[in-house]
Amino acid sequence: MPPPHDLRCPVNPFRVNDYTGICDRCGAKVWLSDLSWQEEFAGFGLINLNLLVCRDCLDIPNESLKAIIIGPDSVPPRWPRPYNYAQQNAGGTAAPTNVREFLFDGDDPG
Ligand SMILES: [Zn+2]
Repeated sequence: MPPPHDLRCPVNPFRVNDYTGICDRCGAKVWLSDLSWQEEFAGFGLINLNLLVCRDCLDIPNESLKAIIIGPDSVPPRWPRPYNYAQQNAGGTAAPTNVREFLFDGDDPG
C-alpha cells in the first residue's frame, strides 16, 4: 500500500521516475530532484552539511567563513646599509648631524 498523499504533495504524471522528499530545513514535501545539498565554507573549501534542502531554503555559503590567506612578505633590499651604531659606540665615526649634507653629499639641491 503506497503512502497517503496529502495536498502539499507535488503531482506530475510526466515525472514518473522522480520521487517526493522532505526538506531537512522547512519540512516541505518537494520533488527529490529539487532538493540540493547545503554547503558551507570551512578552511580552504566547501563542506557538505548533510542537509538536503529545497530551493527556498538553500543558503549561499558565507564568504567570511573562508580561511584568510595572508600574502608573502615584501622583498627586502638586496644590499641594505643600515647605520653602524656599533662602530659609533666603539668611538668610531660620529653619526651625521646635518641630514641634508649626509643625504645629498654636500650638494644643496635647492
Ligand atoms: Zn525547505
